[in-house]
Amino acid sequence: MAGGKADINPRTTHREFFGVPGALGITLGLPLLIMGIAYCCDGELLFKGFKIEVERLIEKTPADASELARVFFDKQCWVAYLTWFGVFVIFDQLLPGTHLKGIPLRDGTQLQYKINGRLFLGVFLSLLASRALVSDSYYLPELDFVYDHQVQLTGVTIVFSFLLSSAVYLASFVPLTKPNGVGSRERILSINGNSGNAFYDWFIGRELNPRVFSWDIKLFCELRPGLLLWLLINLSCVHHQYHSANTISDSLLLVTGLQAFYVFDGVLNEEGVISMMDITTDGFGFMLAFGDLAWLPWVYSLQARYLALSKNPTNIGTLNCLLIMAVSFLGYYIFHSANQQKSDFRMGRLDHENLRCIKTKTGSKLLCDGWWGLSQHINYFGDWLIGISWCLPTGFNTLYTYFYVIYFGVLLLHRQLRDEAKCRQKYGKEWEQYQKMVPYKIIPYLY
Ligand code: NDP
Repeated sequence: MAGGKADINPRTTHREFFGVPGALGITLGLPLLIMGIAYCCDGELLFKGFKIEVERLIEKTPADASELARVFFDKQCWVAYLTWFGVFVIFDQLLPGTHLKGIPLRDGTQLQYKINGRLFLGVFLSLLASRALVSDSYYLPELDFVYDHQVQLTGVTIVFSFLLSSAVYLASFVPLTKPNGVGSRERILSINGNSGNAFYDWFIGRELNPRVFSWDIKLFCELRPGLLLWLLINLSCVHHQYHSANTISDSLLLVTGLQAFYVFDGVLNEEGVISMMDITTDGFGFMLAFGDLAWLPWVYSLQARYLALSKNPTNIGTLNCLLIMAVSFLGYYIFHSANQQKSDFRMGRLDHENLRCIKTKTGSKLLCDGWWGLSQHINYFGDWLIGISWCLPTGFNTLYTYFYVIYFGVLLLHRQLRDEAKCRQKYGKEWEQYQKMVPYKIIPYLY
């Protein structure tokens, strides 16, 4: 690749989220929101009516510095979380895996990614299962600890995300020890995170692929500590209900089972993540660190935390369980087979002659057939259906537990707009032609 400094790291001209004001709003607002959720789930306070909740939330809000320190710097919780994160890093490094190449970077190089999700998950689940088998009546103090410290652990993951994103931001200015693909020692920055505004770049992520030796911080955070903490929180809810009420409701079991399936699928198919926007385009800053490590485990577990509260052990019956499972598997089928079809098409595993597609000036083709003839992001629709199936077991007494599908809908809409902007710029006229052939964006015949 020809080029000097400017070619490798062009200045960011377009700022996401309305620039600094939006980034500031997210940086302050979302941590407050997940703390609020933690307080609600902590005190059996959740879902009593908005006014009572706001009043009691204000009552419980840490009023002075010592209370704030108790919430955000609980020593036991920090030790527990750092152990969790640190042991995962060690596992990730020590467990063998296959090595895959990422997409070519702007300096012409390609990073190697170690793929060991199957083994990692196997070791994690075996350790958990053996711990349960040697326990007395399946009582695991670790799960009780997680359940009883939701507020403090939420605080720890928030502060940890701030620290990690600050560390990678500062490290992005440190020259590389070895020259990059064009002979300079400059790190490859994210196309979105090189605006020159320190706060915005810290938020959106300045460096594209922050690494410590071969340990890829972004891929690790995307698929290990946060995703498996979500599973652990759900298990702590099942554990809590079993030991406090002597029963486990079918709704809680269903939510835990469906979400565990999603987590396993994510970790087992981690090679798919390497070609996703998060890895190929986004830098690793506060947005991704907080999203992966704090937002995901504490927001995605909301349904299980709601169902574990002592007044909510709702049994919804076999028929409802089966119907909800059907919604989930339909979503899953769409999500998975659409992603697979695109991947097979791109890898040349499908017969291009018999498929409607558009050849672009970049050499790659846009598929306009099968799932990809129905809408431009039919895979998002499948993913959203899965999200609905996680909320339905909580019934219809409250809107709170549907927060996930609302938030996820907004996220997917925003993602679709970002992807559309990217494709329009990349493919120009051919993208317009594609949009004429496949007019719907996500939901066929609707949007
Ligand atoms: P897509 O998998 O839809 O990939 C979009 C890219 O695919 C485009 O940029 C373009 O890349 C290529 N492309 C687009 N249309 C076509 C076509 N017709 N034929 C061939 N290639 C095409 O989007 P994402 O990477 O955003 O998402 C991947 C999955 O991750 C989705 O299933 C999504 O639901 C899921 N997801 C889940 C989240 C969660 O929190 N649960 C969050 C975000 C995503 P190119 O430059 O190669 O042409």
